[in-house]
Amino acid sequence: TKYVYRFGGGVDDGGNGDKNLLGGKGANLDGMASIGLPVPPGFTITTEMCTRYYQEGGKFPDSLYDEVKRGIAHIESVTGKKFGDASDPLLVSVRSGARTSMPGMMDTVLNLGLNDATVEGLAAVSGDARFAWDSYRRFIQMYSDVVLALDHSAFEEALEIAKEDKGFHLDTEMGAEDWKALVGEYKAIVEKLWGRPFPQDVNDQLWGAVGAVFGSWESDRAKVYRRLNDIPGEWGTAVNVQAMVFGNMGDTSATGVAFTRDPATGENAYYGEYLINAQGEDVVAGIRTPQYLTKAARERAGARPLSMEEAMPETYAELARVFEILEKHYRDMQDIEFTVQQGKLWMLQTRSGKRTAKAALKIAVDMANEGLITQEEAVARVDPAALDQLLHPTLDPKAPRDVLTKGLPASPGAASGIIVFDADTAERRAELGEAVILVRVETSPEDIHGMHAAKGILTARGGMTSHAAVVARGMGRPCVSGAGSLSIDGKAKILRIGDRQLAEGDILTIDGATGEVMAGEVPTVQPELAGDFGTLMGWADKVRRLKVRANAETPADCQTARDFGAEGVGLCRTEHMFFDAGRITAVRQMILADSEAGRREALAKLLPEQRSDFTAIFEVMAGLPVTIRLLDPPLHEFLPHEEAEFEEVAKAADVGVETLKRRAAELHEFNPMLGHRGCRLGVTYPEIYEMQARAIFEAALDVAAKSGEAPIPEVMIPLVATRKELELMKAVVEATAKSVFEERGKTIDYLVGTMIELPRAALMAGEIAEVGEFFSFGTNDLTQTTIGISRDDAGRFLTQYVDKGIFARDPFVSLDVEGVGQLIEIAAERGRKTRSGIKLGICGEHGGDPASIAFCEKTGLDYVSASPYRVPIARLAAAQAAL
Ligand code: ADP
Ligand code: MG
Ligand code: MG
Repeated sequence: TKYVYRFGGGVDDGGNGDKNLLGGKGANLDGMASIGLPVPPGFTITTEMCTRYYQEGGKFPDSLYDEVKRGIAHIESVTGKKFGDASDPLLVSVRSGARTSMPGMMDTVLNLGLNDATVEGLAAVSGDARFAWDSYRRFIQMYSDVVLALDHSAFEEALEIAKEDKGFHLDTEMGAEDWKALVGEYKAIVEKLWGRPFPQDVNDQLWGAVGAVFGSWESDRAKVYRRLNDIPGEWGTAVNVQAMVFGNMGDTSATGVAFTRDPATGENAYYGEYLINAQGEDVVAGIRTPQYLTKAARERAGARPLSMEEAMPETYAELARVFEILEKHYRDMQDIEFTVQQGKLWMLQTRSGKRTAKAALKIAVDMANEGLITQEEAVARVDPAALDQLLHPTLDPKAPRDVLTKGLPASPGAASGIIVFDADTAERRAELGEAVILVRVETSPEDIHGMHAAKGILTARGGMTSHAAVVARGMGRPCVSGAGSLSIDGKAKILRIGDRQLAEGDILTIDGATGEVMAGEVPTVQPELAGDFGTLMGWADKVRRLKVRANAETPADCQTARDFGAEGVGLCRTEHMFFDAGRITAVRQMILADSEAGRREALAKLLPEQRSDFTAIFEVMAGLPVTIRLLDPPLHEFLPHEEAEFEEVAKAADVGVETLKRRAAELHEFNPMLGHRGCRLGVTYPEIYEMQARAIFEAALDVAAKSGEAPIPEVMIPLVATRKELELMKAVVEATAKSVFEERGKTIDYLVGTMIELPRAALMAGEIAEVGEFFSFGTNDLTQTTIGISRDDAGRFLTQYVDKGIFARDPFVSLDVEGVGQLIEIAAERGRKTRSGIKLGICGEHGGDPASIAFCEKTGLDYVSASPYRVPIARLAAAQAAL
């Protein structure tokens, strides 16, 4: 097997931009070089080598040494410099690169190849001793930190002291001799902390760095990131070794980061930051505040230092040309790293840029309109889950805001929460159910878990491409970065802005769309659903086959669902209607009655109430199917549990306290989930279902008469296990329909069907379909009853189950396709055999989960039903599943 692929200088080993093999970074370096863009020559050691390295207990095969030698020779021949040559040394960077960009992996080592001899050569060839010694000290510091894992504070202190001694404030004031002296100190620090002198042999340096990249694949940080992002451990990382180019060779040199479109808004305008006379990491690390790339952006921000467009117009024009080529080539918005060495542009990285949900939507729609991608591709490009960010409220523009300061609008969305100053506290307090805002000077990969737990992130330092900004956008967390007037005392847990002071636990609001930071909580408003959102949804609707309904039981929820494009109600639960203040007494009287006559008397009081509930829902859903589930929960849920309530309830229901207590005791169940509930209630008290059916049909006829458009009621019997149960309940519903239709002299279409939520029902679906006219998979209960876990109790161990890989994901969030999914397939198949074309849907929580929706598409269900806010997510996911 070949483990090393060369790129640049006209040599191409045929990796063909394969991300699985070369990693994302390597694949695109290869890609850029092959379309003729200026890429410093280099080579990639494949991800397969990483896998093999671990298989062989952290050793490299002998063949690799020869392959790497050949790779170095390639760089030497293109650059005309020799690795380790004391007169004109080749310097390289060693860069990690997994398939997807992965914070937590080893940081890049720049300037590798410098030692006490080559530094002199570099000084001589460049004619710039200061540059050479600065590069050497950077290299020692980076290598010691990243490869040797020495404590970096010792190096930082030495630099501070060196500057202090000279009375300097900035690194730029340091001269060649100052850097040279510091290099001496750095070497002494290495020897002290590491016990050995800093490696002078350039090949030792190289292999040390290569080993460190592979080693970092199994670092704790990398593992945490993989777990949070579902990245398999087998993927491995590649290593890229590439000739150095220098952005720190004076004022005609620079380094920068750019996006071909605005990653926050999606606007079709170049976007980025650069720094003159600086090296790579300086922009990202937030050490110096970077300058704008374009003139327009600089002017908009009212900033003074010249943009790259103004300061280096020719190089900028070249860069803009490269942006166009890259977008056409990769057919997506690109996130780019570049360096300018004495006026010459070099491309160091490109990848599809991370973007906010809003930008993803706009870019997809724009690119389809520009003809760069098809409408189907646009549909496929937007992550349904990310739509969540757009569908949720933003700050009410009319609400008063106590604005403390303004930072950069790094990741949009608004969030309020209590202030915390470190990631661990963020995680701990979020687990207690608190909304937290993580406030940091700047973030690093060690903060990932806290950023994940936080509702929003605020940093004092760092630009729009800082770690905090990039990670927050990826996670969909609102973020304000670089709020410079913020002073954070992490020890005292205090935050100062001007003369204001806030402490841990105080409430703060951030607006990631404007960069505003506000004291207290600010109310929010609903999002705008027209524009790009509407366009993309329209395209999605053209390709999807699955219908999308909503789980809704109030007219307001139904309206939201319709606004979001729901094509019916897939689950209208009726028990909530029983809890309403005006009705609970009648419900209790019904439960407490000791005869059918007594129950009917109470139910008669409930009838008009139920009817008005359904009328209101049918009015909103006129013309569309509405699946109504008859009463499901065990009756004791409607009785009081607290001693204090008994007296009052007994009085209201007009029974003695003793009677009430006795009845409550009678109804007590050891395992209510498996108790007297669902159709078992209808079997024992058919008059309850009869009242509900009457309310449904009367309401449907009322609405049909009034609006001319009848809803299509689908009466759903819950928790059926046997055909006979359904037969009995269907008879009740049909008899009721018949009498209502006779009384009114009018009829409407309706269906009677069942939820499939018990394994027996799934297995007996063939028989049940003889009676049931539709099936709706109640996957919440079906998951509980198939796996034998109670959703209410599973919280204690499910996280561990997911961590230990027992379940890939929480089976209540994403359908257990392997197990529970089989029952759905069986039921669908058997049901269809008996009743061809039987209507099949899913109404559990899973109806809004993209992976579960893909399964529903595969199984050929007719519709999915999701909570109103997830309806657009379901529409998009259904379209993607159909593509
Ligand atoms: P990351 O994945 O963290 O972005 P990179 O490998 O891209 O790490 O490198 C970090 C920084 O170093 C980037 O700014 C990059 O442009 C710069 N860099 C990497 N290789 C070189 C090189 N050969 N010459 C100059 N700068 C480089
Ligand atoms: Mg990079
Ligand atoms: Mg159920």
